[in-house]
Amino acid sequence: SLGTGKVGLRNVGNTCFLNSVVQCLSHTLSLRDYCLTKAFLQEMGSQDAQEFLRFLLDRLHSEINRCPPHRNPAHTNLAPIIEEEAAMMWRKYLERENSKIVDLFSGQLRSTLHCSICSHYSTTFDVFYDLSLPIPKRSVAGASVSLKDCLELFSQEEQLDQENSPVCTRCGKRTVSTKRLIIQRFPKVIVLHLNRFTMSRYSISKSTVSVSFPLTQLDLGPYGPVDTGPVLYNLYAVCNHSGTVNMGHYTAYCLDESGWQCYNDSRVTPIAESQLQSSQAYVLFYQLDVSSQARK
Ligand SMILES: [Zn+2]
Repeated sequence: SLGTGKVGLRNVGNTCFLNSVVQCLSHTLSLRDYCLTKAFLQEMGSQDAQEFLRFLLDRLHSEINRCPPHRNPAHTNLAPIIEEEAAMMWRKYLERENSKIVDLFSGQLRSTLHCSICSHYSTTFDVFYDLSLPIPKRSVAGASVSLKDCLELFSQEEQLDQENSPVCTRCGKRTVSTKRLIIQRFPKVIVLHLNRFTMSRYSISKSTVSVSFPLTQLDLGPYGPVDTGPVLYNLYAVCNHSGTVNMGHYTAYCLDESGWQCYNDSRVTPIAESQLQSSQAYVLFYQLDVSSQARK
């Protein structure tokens, strides 16, 4: 389909997974614009010594603080320190990694571990390019699941037994603990992976549960830090997986100026909005809504 800007990609032997992802990425408008204009401008930020010193002293102080800890430290005096640590970790990350990919796709995840023995909270920050969401098991066969259900399961407190728990930094032991994930920093483009494949000892199985997802105004604010407010995203591409674990095929649905198109290797056909949701949806590409971006 030369001239329309919609170009299919030939399958050269099990390359449909590659084709579908390339289609989704090439519909990330600001990434495409960037590649087309070759605007490789780099702005290197430098670590501020004073900021680092302030952070360091703050942390040292809290470790040797003579005052007894507050009753609920995670929600009171520790909150500003956590925010500051998150910001510092992010600055350190940007010092090492600086590209258009980072600008668009990377976000920050906060993981909080709470020790049941000594009540110590330890917080770690990780950079992510995509979030892998678990699909909740439904007791009723055929019962549908929403993307919100997956996000709730992803962010809900998880009980870790002694074996699976990391070492508590205060007790120095593995203890029964709880873990919680929060999206500390939202990327411009968020890639949500619906984790359909479950590995057991002898085999991999695929969940074919239909997961419904909003095309516009997906609000991820509730999965951010307390009082984040709405953080809205709009869908622009979907990577689909059909078939079984061993005999599967990938396609992509992508949005352009003329609407949604289905990219099935070299074939490109229009697709109705009402057909986008299926039990084959596998990776969802959302971009931050312009109004959300302006507020940040
Ligand atoms: Zn502990």
